[in-house]
Amino acid sequence: MDTVIYFTLLGEGKDALQMKISKRARNVSPSLTLEITAKANKMKSEGVDVVSFGAGEPDFNTPDFIIEGAKKALDEGRTKYTPASGTLSLRSAIAAKLKRENGLDYAPTDIVVSNGAKHSLHNVFQAITDPGDEVIIPTPYWLTYPELVKLAGGVPVFVHTSPEDDFRLTADELEKAVTAKTKAVLINTPNNPSGAVYCEKELRRLAEVVLKHGGIYVISDEIYENLVYDGAKAVSIASFSDEIKQRTIIVNGVSKTFSMTGWRIGYTASNAEVAKAISGLQSHMTSNPNTIAQYAAEAAYGNLEKGGEFLGGMVKEFDARRKLLMEKLDGEKELSYIRPHGAFYVMVGIKQCLGRKYKGRLIDGAHAFAEALLESKNVAVIPCESFGAPYFIRLSYAISRDDIAKGADRIKAFVNELC
Ligand code: PLP
Repeated sequence: MDTVIYFTLLGEGKDALQMKISKRARNVSPSLTLEITAKANKMKSEGVDVVSFGAGEPDFNTPDFIIEGAKKALDEGRTKYTPASGTLSLRSAIAAKLKRENGLDYAPTDIVVSNGAKHSLHNVFQAITDPGDEVIIPTPYWLTYPELVKLAGGVPVFVHTSPEDDFRLTADELEKAVTAKTKAVLINTPNNPSGAVYCEKELRRLAEVVLKHGGIYVISDEIYENLVYDGAKAVSIASFSDEIKQRTIIVNGVSKTFSMTGWRIGYTASNAEVAKAISGLQSHMTSNPNTIAQYAAEAAYGNLEKGGEFLGGMVKEFDARRKLLMEKLDGEKELSYIRPHGAFYVMVGIKQCLGRKYKGRLIDGAHAFAEALLESKNVAVIPCESFGAPYFIRLSYAISRDDIAKGADRIKAFVNELC
């Protein structure tokens, strides 16, 4: 502390500033994704015709019946604190959803509602991770996971999955990665960014490995569970037995299923002990998530007919866009992709393009590819270095069909101009 003041007084501005920032905060990696997105947004605001494949959220309006739920809550004066872990009525609606859709029995007290699934994940790592604990994260992964693990003092352990397995973690790979320090394994199905969906058999094998070892949790991120195609079905690993359910912490929410990303409602479902720990932490860190948004989420889970109708329409449209994008990519031999069966992303391999040049500029990685593509063809894509997949870019098809067609043509033109 004294040293900090000493440097500050000496006016060594940069060093002094660095010393005031915690190691924890400095340890968080900056997001390359945000850099590209910010650049694309700036170009758009300057009137440039940018096609952005960067979207991480459905481009549909939140359905009216959900908005009505929020309005009703306001009209009824529901503008006060709720229990820190969410209203009993919302937690009961989530428990009913888990029973109905996933065959899982949870009491409302096993559920903690938070400010989006991202916040739920943060709570989970804070609740279960001690310094040095390892969390197994299969690649490719959503870039936030390792940062949240590090924030909790844990150590992300990446296990590289292969395109031959459609980027799904195998039981053997998991077995090899487990050590005495393993605290949890993260399973994200359907996966962001690969769109991979684990089948029941694969998940059962993973569950067997987990149960063989004591003290390992499964963190099951099921946020894209309803966005599946080609007859795929997202299965929750928790549904196989009571034993594995006890070890699983489900993370889910309304963001993707009901196009409610801005409402910030996510939840965990877990054993009572973990739920109590999460609830205790949350009670000090944020208190309850926004009360009005909780009532909106309750409306979302409560109206099966309208919810189903909305979701059916959205999935149908995403599926058509997914097919259109794949069609456009087919036949472009410089670009490869593994057919995605879930979420709204296609992960495209660009390895063939590496080492080549665009107008004298070396393409030496996904970030360089994305930067050159944006600057030359006005197309924004997400480089997957920070998703643990350095030779890939992620294209989101949560954009219009016209934009998909236009953007894909521009990508092809870019690749053909590489030399
Ligand atoms: N998990 C995954 C895999 C995601 O892709 C996202 C958002 O993009 C989230 C969780 C977070 O969702 P929320 O908006 O509810 O915080």
